[in-house]
Amino acid sequence: MDISVVVPLYNEEESLPELAQWIHRVMEANGFSYEIIFVNDGSTDRSMEVIRRLAKENEAIHAISFSRNYGKSPALNEGFRRAQGDVVITMDADLQDSPDEIPELYRMITEDGYDLVSGWKKKRYDPLSKTIPTKLFNATARKVSGIRNLHDFNCGLKAYRNAVVKHIEVYGDMHRYIPYLAKNAGYRKIGEKVVHHQARKYGHTKFGLDRFVNGYLDLATLWFQSKFGIKPMHIFGLLGSAMFMIGFLAVLTVLILKLVAMNSDTFHFYLTKSVYFYLSLVFMVLGVQFFCTGFIGELITRNSPERNKYQIGEEW
Ligand code: UDP
Ligand code: MG
Repeated sequence: MDISVVVPLYNEEESLPELAQWIHRVMEANGFSYEIIFVNDGSTDRSMEVIRRLAKENEAIHAISFSRNYGKSPALNEGFRRAQGDVVITMDADLQDSPDEIPELYRMITEDGYDLVSGWKKKRYDPLSKTIPTKLFNATARKVSGIRNLHDFNCGLKAYRNAVVKHIEVYGDMHRYIPYLAKNAGYRKIGEKVVHHQARKYGHTKFGLDRFVNGYLDLATLWFQSKFGIKPMHIFGLLGSAMFMIGFLAVLTVLILKLVAMNSDTFHFYLTKSVYFYLSLVFMVLGVQFFCTGFIGELITRNSPERNKYQIGEEW
């Protein structure tokens, strides 16, 4: 099979018929063999009925339906597990992404050799409150992930080589950083294609402003995981040692000052009035705590089934 189209959806009943028809039209025109996997993320409207009706008319249509709303990432993850096409395309259900982009995305994966091609909504039809923070968000994501050539990490329209989707795990809200996940899994040929974007035709957006706060926190988590995920002691040990050293120097300073004061008639030194006394307390305690956190982290990674899982590119 050439292409699997994975569509996560949450209450998108109005858009589905048009989307399914449009995808079908593009696939027919280009002679692709394909499947559409609708992943219903616990919709409370009639989305599932609509999909059942559409599947009766087109046997390329399949569905996975969650019994409650888990989020876009889990929906994509389940769609990825199921996808059989050589190229896997993800696309939002709200008709903001255009199926007309599929042939070129397919070509970039199969002919240009990209592992992942992300859409770039260069001209966006979204409110300003969304587009400006998005620019900041993408700049940070570029810096942290080291994927310098992407402008739009969170574009719903993306194409993947099949192996890529089988080797990444999208959980929580990590769908925003799939290129980073792919890079961490060893897939480094990541490209971009400018795509047409349209205003939402039906329904309303499913993500609020908390997306930006959570987005940044998730980015921090991913960065930490990719850097220190299997060797937490390297960060906690370093921080712990540095703090303990500062604390130790402060202790030495207090002791020396105390000794000098004891042998002097004019110089009075009150331990508890000295800033070094407090510095020594705080930093030594913090240092030990960081160190212990490092040890606990090491014990946790030691027990992780992932600790010795590597992506092997070639083997002779
Ligand atoms: N979506 C989902 N589960 C959710 C939220 C959203 O499957 O919990 C789907 C939604 O139906 C749509 C896609 O994810 O197909 C993108 O959502 P939306 O259009 O609301 O995001 P925006 O375009 O505003 O970033
Ligand atoms: Mg949308």
